[in-house]
Amino acid sequence: MKIEASVLQDFVRNIFGGAGCSAEESGRIAKYLVSANLVGHDSHGVVRVPRYVRSKLDRTVNPDQKVGVVVDTPVIAVVDGKNGFGQTVAPQAVEIGITKCKAAGLSAVALRNASHIGRIGDWAEMAAAAGLVSVHFVNASGSVLVAPFGGVDRRISTAPFCIGIPRPGTDPVVLDFATSVVAEGKVLVASQGGKKLPDNALIGPDGTISGDPHQLYGDYEADGPRNYRQGKGAIRAFGDHKGSGLAVLCELLGGSLTGCGATEPKDVMMNGMLSFYIDPKVVDPTNFLAPDMARYLNYVKSSRPVTPGGEVLVPGEVEVRNRAQRSKDGIPLPESTWAALVAIAREVGVVPPNSAAAQA
Ligand code: NAD
Repeated sequence: MKIEASVLQDFVRNIFGGAGCSAEESGRIAKYLVSANLVGHDSHGVVRVPRYVRSKLDRTVNPDQKVGVVVDTPVIAVVDGKNGFGQTVAPQAVEIGITKCKAAGLSAVALRNASHIGRIGDWAEMAAAAGLVSVHFVNASGSVLVAPFGGVDRRISTAPFCIGIPRPGTDPVVLDFATSVVAEGKVLVASQGGKKLPDNALIGPDGTISGDPHQLYGDYEADGPRNYRQGKGAIRAFGDHKGSGLAVLCELLGGSLTGCGATEPKDVMMNGMLSFYIDPKVVDPTNFLAPDMARYLNYVKSSRPVTPGGEVLVPGEVEVRNRAQRSKDGIPLPESTWAALVAIAREVGVVPPNSAAAQA
């Protein structure tokens, strides 16, 4: 099915309201989850709602948190998310980085103990909207899902890495990916009948490489819950030894240096994020960045495509296109994702929009 973004956002906001979240927090969570769907990262969109709601009902996430400032210098802050919703505490951390960077030209913010902060590109886009370059090293402490290069056993989280560069008058360049072949949410989506995984995404305990979600979740019912602790296999780190090395560095910087802790198995997952911000206006008073980026990105795109009729894309381009198309045509959702939303809505006393109203 396809659903209009605004209808989906209202529905998700109401679900969180039904689960007892404040109006502001419900609105923020709905906005960022639907934004992930809009840019095409369904793995970080509304498919997460049942898990988030469960964490609210189980009190494994703290509502309406204000980050605690642990260290505060003119250019560095260390902030504690106090296990608040990521959609509430991550923008506070980014705002602190933006304010310090605007004053000093450069800043670094270490965020620890945030509940799931979703699509990291949102935080790079927030910095880019303020005119700033940003670099983010992230770990998902407690969520051990990924086997390092040369290993079979899980030792790393999906540890995303992200860089954003603003471009005046147009969309920023945003590189944003999990350092695993796929994010866990993509395994979740595939297990629910959504887009299939690449054949090299997962590794079994005997070293067999496959794209079968059962490696991660073990046995599951089609419409039942998924628990990554039940599978015996792992997601593979991307890019062989180089990607695996970057993943370990995301653990050390996003986990160890932020104080969130490099990942080890724990019951509750917390994101740690080390972010650097730089103000291009300070580095570039004569304005060479924008024209040189425009020239270079066109040069990259002019490379002859591998397949006839194909196209070379630059980081962030897919997301910009998806956002334009899905804003116009609606967001495609697998029936199982919709069914899971309807089920959790009913559980918290929210009436879902009827299918006809929901269809875009
Ligand atoms: P992905 O594999 O889709 O890669 C996305 C990146 O590749 C983007 O920068 C995109 O612009 C670029 N890209 C995509 N297709 C391209 C093409 N054809 N040519 C050139 N560039 C292209 O992303 P992913 O690894 O599945 O990650 C999905 C999301 O999951 C990300 O937003 C990430 O931040 C998020 N994530 C979050 C957590 C967390 O703990 N909060 C953990 C893991 C991942």
